Amino acid sequence: MDPSKRARVETQIAEWLRYGDDLGLGPFYRDRVPSDAIAAPATAPVGVAAELPAEVISENIRIEETTEMPTSRTPAKAFAASAAASATPVSAPASAVLPIVNDSNLFDSFERVANDSLPRIREDIGDCKRCKLHKGRTKLVFGVGNPKAELMFVGEGPGRDEDQQGEPFVGRAGKLLTQMIEAMSLQRGDVYIANVVKCRPPENRLPEKDEIATCSPFLLRQIEVIKPKVICCLGACSAQTLLQTAQGISKFRGEWLDFRGTKLMATYHPAYLLRNPAAKGEVWKDLQKIMGLLGLKPRKK
Ligand code: URA
Repeated sequence: MDPSKRARVETQIAEWLRYGDDLGLGPFYRDRVPSDAIAAPATAPVGVAAELPAEVISENIRIEETTEMPTSRTPAKAFAASAAASATPVSAPASAVLPIVNDSNLFDSFERVANDSLPRIREDIGDCKRCKLHKGRTKLVFGVGNPKAELMFVGEGPGRDEDQQGEPFVGRAGKLLTQMIEAMSLQRGDVYIANVVKCRPPENRLPEKDEIATCSPFLLRQIEVIKPKVICCLGACSAQTLLQTAQGISKFRGEWLDFRGTKLMATYHPAYLLRNPAAKGEVWKDLQKIMGLLGLKPRKK
């Protein structure tokens, strides 16, 4: 098969695997874990069960068609006021613990760095050549946002736009994430955004095990320095990495989970929402739980 066709087919397969992951089919299709080996998630308190208002759904669809950044007058802002009006705080949530199904814990050997800081972590990463992802990299994507953020979003890895600009979530999925953040009555600069891997996987394939193992200790250090109250994992890769589980994300998204003493909420990746707008209502429920925990109040119109 000629190399460009092969790359296209590989991208397609990666997309399908990702889609399967988002639907919770990952363990069956990829790891061949029999379904009875997948434990049912513990039930967590359910917060607000509001559907994403129609105005946001249409706004997000518009965003798929444009590369313009939403301005301060977008319906997303209007949505922040109207949608959040239905949000009620959730009471102190109990965290469930997922069964660890990977053989070794990625973070077992993690050692805290004394007086660690984000600049120090960036310096330690340097002009990284630790894994094969460096070969196709234009810019390393370290992370962006408030170093004292209460809320940290963790994605999978940079895409084409992020690789070009050196900033996470700046492409189409990123613009949707920005809207989601604004809908929570926050600004992008209020939160911190990082990825599991800091260099773009070729053809946007999923990061591989060795790449995740090499890069994720830096993510862990970022989390330790920022000390967010809540980590929001965007998509299966990030959730499975931090939770060290092979369970499909649909098994545990929307549940309060624990990451080394920090509350963790996994939700669908914005890129998945671009392909499946119907899932936006589920994601909005998850975001409302986070808002409840952080005491975020809906914006007044
Ligand atoms: N998808 C991710 O997971 N991260 C990015 O930074 C961009 C797209």
